[in-house]
Amino acid sequence: MSKEAVPESALYSTYARADLSFDRGEGSWLVATDGRRYLDFMGGIAVNSLGHAHPHLVAALKAQAEKLWHVSNIFEIEGQRRLAERLAAATFADRVFFANSGAEAIECAIKTTRRFHYVNGRPERYRLVTFEGAFHGRTLAAIAAGGQKKYLEGFGPPVPGFDQVPFGDREAVEAAIGPETAGILIEPIQGEGGIRAFPPEELRFLRALCDEHGLLLVLDEIQTGIGRTGRLFAHEWAGITPDVMAIAKGIGGGFPLGACLATEAAAAGMSAGTHGTTFGGNLLAMAVGNAVLDVVLEDGFLERVRQTGLLLKQKLAGLVDAHGGVVEEIRGEGLMLGIKCRAPNAEVAAAAREEGLLLVAAGDNVVRLLPALTVGEAEVTEAVVRLDRALGRLAKREAAE
Ligand SMILES: *Cc1c(COP(=O)(O)O)cnc(C)c1O
Repeated sequence: MSKEAVPESALYSTYARADLSFDRGEGSWLVATDGRRYLDFMGGIAVNSLGHAHPHLVAALKAQAEKLWHVSNIFEIEGQRRLAERLAAATFADRVFFANSGAEAIECAIKTTRRFHYVNGRPERYRLVTFEGAFHGRTLAAIAAGGQKKYLEGFGPPVPGFDQVPFGDREAVEAAIGPETAGILIEPIQGEGGIRAFPPEELRFLRALCDEHGLLLVLDEIQTGIGRTGRLFAHEWAGITPDVMAIAKGIGGGFPLGACLATEAAAAGMSAGTHGTTFGGNLLAMAVGNAVLDVVLEDGFLERVRQTGLLLKQKLAGLVDAHGGVVEEIRGEGLMLGIKCRAPNAEVAAAAREEGLLLVAAGDNVVRLLPALTVGEAEVTEAVVRLDRALGRLAKREAAE
């Protein structure tokens, strides 16, 4: 994003914000406060899984809002039971813990993994192997797990217990496993890291390695989950299952909601009193989460995500042929796609925004496309037309320099 002058405010300066704000959303479109319409292919960074103002989500939230918003987790919450059962039925998991965000879901995944070994008589096993380029959120443990200097700097000693290895380096993973290793934590496709996918055979290798050493395989599917890659979860492409998995973003469709899923065995240590949250699993969040699943689990929904994703990927490949000077490669799966850029990715995103198309930058000089899973073919075509214009202008501008 280009850095226009943004008005002063009382907010923390933690975000390099674009000087653009929105009044409302309709499906894959956002309407700015100045009335301009934008085609939203960033989706609040993979959060607006069903686009904006989806009638089923709106109705579910309104109905719940008129009944009951919040009760403490010391009481039975029917919406939690129901969403947990549905997530368990659709996945490897037997147990679910609800939180409010991705970082909290990761915290729960880390704690679950450490407790598993603790209650199984191996309290010395607390370390997780993680991968260079990873992003797991912004809590102290999550930035330690992600291992990125720019997020760790100035915040004191990193939380201990994370051993980072180069992306896709099998020997390094094996070498990192020691008597204190509890598990391996990985995003099947790195999102913030630049839509870098772990090939299916690498995930199968990690699964086998965990089994061999008695470790837990912990997946971060916060960005890749809930249909984003054309399967309910990205690990399904590799034909493996994890022991523990963090999800968030798309499951809330815009309402803050995260969850940690685990097998019965992996969740064994998380007994009464070991973990908790005030807001997590709030009735409003449960109403929306269940409504998101209603739509995503419909027959044919994921098939349509795969088809639309393929169409978008093919059209983007055409742009790489046409604008090889500014973009070089298309990456990703389903509706989680990345364009590896030659021009600075921030300039590509800014040029697209000038054409009324919202994309989001990622690491490795990539721009991401994370449209609503409900995006239509006409909108895909329109997005590619706009991106074509943006890249054309960028190429001209670069040639003039
Ligand atoms: C967004 C994200 C997180 C952090 O989620 P928050 O809701 O921002 O805490 C963690 N891991 C991955 C892969 C993400 O994409």
